[in-house]
This record gives sequence, structure tokens and C-alpha cells, in this order.
Amino acid sequence: MLRFTYQALPGRVIFGVGSLDRLAEEIERIGSARALVLSTPEQRAEAHDVAVRMGSRSAGIFDRAVMHVPIETARQAREEAKRLGADCCVAVGGGSTIGLAKAIALVSELPILAIPTTYAGSEMTPIWGLTEAGVKKTGRDLRVLPRTVIYDPTLTVSMPPGLSGTSGMNAIAHAVEALYAEDTNPIISLMAEESIRALAKSLPAVVKAPQNLDARADALYGAWLAGASLGAVGMALHHKLCHTLGGTFNLPHSEIHTLILPHVAAYNALAAPWAMERVARALGAKNASDGLYDLALTVGARMALKDFGLRETDLDRAADLAVSNPYYNPRPVTRDGVRKLLDDAYYGRRPSKT
Ligand code: NAD
Repeated sequence: MLRFTYQALPGRVIFGVGSLDRLAEEIERIGSARALVLSTPEQRAEAHDVAVRMGSRSAGIFDRAVMHVPIETARQAREEAKRLGADCCVAVGGGSTIGLAKAIALVSELPILAIPTTYAGSEMTPIWGLTEAGVKKTGRDLRVLPRTVIYDPTLTVSMPPGLSGTSGMNAIAHAVEALYAEDTNPIISLMAEESIRALAKSLPAVVKAPQNLDARADALYGAWLAGASLGAVGMALHHKLCHTLGGTFNLPHSEIHTLILPHVAAYNALAAPWAMERVARALGAKNASDGLYDLALTVGARMALKDFGLRETDLDRAADLAVSNPYYNPRPVTRDGVRKLLDDAYYGRRPSKT
């Protein structure tokens, strides 16, 4: 029988080609007079463009965002925000840059305006992450949820085809786990299924023709829904495993999500048939795990862990870490089960049906 709790998250979303033109009015709406613009070194030009658009409301640029928010970088950015008397953070970039804005907001409560340029989805979540001494800590805190998000597909056109494909698969992973989350609910399930449908349809087109703005808009729409799903409900084995592999073995975030997802879908298939039916339906596939595996191949992803510098002996440690703290998953997480899953992923095999 249907029974659920649904907690809506606040947030304002401006979506569409050219929506970056609304930046000045959105900054004014937040009430900011001195916004600090954040980016990675590679996206300094985008940060400069954003600062120019804000005119006198820009306090400066901090362009040192890097993957997984090292605590030293967070401290430097917090000091810079203080030094400049910033009253808002504008993050232009992917999850790493938005993560840095969250690290500032966590201690200062500065509002965030996010301008995402990948499909990772951090802009829709109250989840923060900080890495100290090689260990990444994460938590949920409403103070880090961006106040306003401007999704302009134009900004995603420069994303290389490889990153576009795996970043989109990273978004699909949020949606898949949202469908079988412990606290899932009908609204999030609608969003998650629609997210997978939009991404499955658009990603092959995006990878084939990165300048195709229609496909870019559909993919970003799917990424928005996936991010909102991630922000609203808890995740399970897939995210735990990717967190372990990424953090402990320093593996690239979106590629690892892409490679692991079909195997976790196969692992959970019998325990969450209702969710897998929706995943398969959204993919237009016979079953979820094969559909995800085929989509990953279509977008050109590398599907074997061994190609990322991991040694076969690391798999035992990864399996140990993945079962070291109990957490929710529709199928009980056993060491043997995870070790077998990792073995398939290591060699890039099609997921085993268990
Ligand atoms: P990223 O932000 O690390 O970006 C990867 C690289 O691509 C960077 O060099 C970046 O400058 C570049 N790039 C980004 N957009 C581009 C574009 N449009 N054109 C050209 N280059 C572009 O990658 P990501 O996958 O978006 O984020 C990964 C990080 O985000 C991880 O640390 C992950 O843990 C975190 N994350 C957090 C949440 C959350 O809710 N807190 C959600 C998803 C991801």
C-alpha cells in the first residue's frame, strides 16, 4: 500500500538557451552587491564572462576549484570571500566548482547562485563534500543548497564528447538509485524516470554532435531532474561503491559511475523489480542492466576498471571498504557479492544476472 513522506527542497531554476542573460537580474533578486565568482583554472574564461555580466556586483574571481574539494582549497576560497567582503558565491562549472561554493556556504551561510556546465547535479542538492588527509567527508546541510540555478545549455556545448557521455551516465546513476531509495516517493520516481528517458535519448546525439543545442538542452533537462532526485532521497550501493573507488584509489568521478552502474543494476535487479522496470522502460531496453551497459558503450565510455590503473589486488580492499559500514540497499550487500560485481567491472564484462 502506498505510504511515503515527501519533503520539497526550496530553490529557483531558470532554464533555457540564453538564460545566462538573466544573471544580472537574478543576482539582484538575491540582493547581492558583491558576489565572488568561482571556477576551475580551465574555466577561467567562463568565470570572467560571468563577472563581466555582473558588472559592479562582481567582487572578484577565485579560479582554483579542483576535484573533491581539498580542505586547503576550501580554506583559501573562504579567506578570499572574507577578504573581498563577498555576500554571495556564483559558481560556474561542474560539481567541483559548485562543491567549492558549498564549502564556503557551509561556514559563512553565503547564498549560492550556480551555473552548471556538466550533468553532475550538485547544484540541486544540499550535499557537501570536503577532502582532508585523503579522506572525503560528506554531509547534508540546507545552507549549501544553491538559492538559484541558471541552466543554460549553451554553456555545455564546450564539454568534450567523452565527459558529456560519462557525466550524463553519472546523472542517470542518481535517477536509478532514487527509484529504489529507502525513502523514495511517487514525485521523485516520476522525475527520476523522466530524467533517464531524457538522457538516454539525448546523450548519443550529444556525443555525436556536441554542438547540437536541442540535444544539449534535453540532456541538461535530464540532468536537472537527476540532480533533484539525488537531492531529495538517499542513495545506496552504487554511490557508496563509487565514493570508495573514487576517494581511495583516486579514480575519475563520472567515468567510474558509468562503469559501475550497469553492474549495480544487475546486482539489485531481483530485489527492486518495480524500479528496474521503470529504468528499462525509460531506456527503451529489455532490462535495466543491459540497457545501461549498452548506453554506456554507445556514448563511448571505457568499461573496464583495469584500464584506469587499478590493480586486481585492489579489488579485495575495495570490497572490504564497501561493506565496512552498513547502509541501505534493496538487496543485502555481501562481501562476496560486491567482490564478484567488481570482478565483472574490472574486466569490463557485460553484467552478470544473479
Ligand atoms: P568537474 O566539475 O570536476 O569538471 C571536470 C573538468 O571538466 C574540469 O576541468 C572542468 O573545468 C571541466 N568542465 C566542466 N564543464 C565544462 C564544459 N562545459 N566545457 C569544458 N570543460 C568543462 O566534474 P563533475 O563531474 O561535474 O563533478 C565531479 C565532482 O562533483 C566530484 O567531486 C563529485 O563528488 C562532485 N559531486 C557532488 C555532488 C553533490 O551533490 N554534492 C553531486 C555530483 C557530483
